[in-house]
Amino acid sequence: MARRKIIAGNWKMNMTPTQAVALIEKLKPLVVTEDADVVFCVPAIDIIPAVEATKGTNIEIGAENMYFEESGAYTGEISPAMLTDAGVKYVIIGHSERREYFAETDETVNKKVLKAFEHGLTPIICCGESLTQREQGITIDWIRQQIKIAFLNVTAEQAAKAVIAYEPIWAIGTGKVATTEQAQEVCAAIRACIAEIYDDATAAAIRIQYGGSVSAASAPELFAQADIDGGLVGGASLKEDFGAIVNYK
Ligand code: PEP
Repeated sequence: MARRKIIAGNWKMNMTPTQAVALIEKLKPLVVTEDADVVFCVPAIDIIPAVEATKGTNIEIGAENMYFEESGAYTGEISPAMLTDAGVKYVIIGHSERREYFAETDETVNKKVLKAFEHGLTPIICCGESLTQREQGITIDWIRQQIKIAFLNVTAEQAAKAVIAYEPIWAIGTGKVATTEQAQEVCAAIRACIAEIYDDATAAAIRIQYGGSVSAASAPELFAQADIDGGLVGGASLKEDFGAIVNYK
């Protein structure tokens, strides 16, 4: 069975609640499609108005992060139950910006992935290499390690429903998009790694996105690759271009 594409926007730390609703109203008619899942991952404070503003549309709301505990003395954190109660379906986990600025590690990523599944949230699990790692020729080894740790104790049934976002760090927010060959090579390696950890059926089911300066111009070729099932889009998800990316065909 063909995998359904999934195209998610990552708003990062942009848009006040008022601005969020205005942006959704602008993008709503542009992102209509029957061919892909469309997700807006928004800042925590925008979640409730965004869920409200997208009712009755094909847009699902995702969070950009969550904590791996149920509740308690974790000032400033958001729990998985808070997300599901608010109507969130997806959660980005382990974005490279969170790894770089907020000390996220492969181990915390794994804890969050397990917790997300426990609550019926679909994790969008980010992985990616730095420019130095690419130049050293260790990209695939590095990504395999990230994937293996992220999926520790995750069942095959859960893994089949996960989304992985391959995001080379050097391509995020830089305007420097990976070549289709580079993106496809790593996404294929990720799928092979999932097959090794689980089995071919799980590898065939899991959806793998490419992320890193995706634009309306680069999306069609990237998303046509055998192992690329859509994109995680930062900058362009805040603009009308996101409509063209979603309707890339
Ligand atoms: C991202 O935030 O995950 C991302 C890929 O950003 P950009 O598209 O702006 O590079």
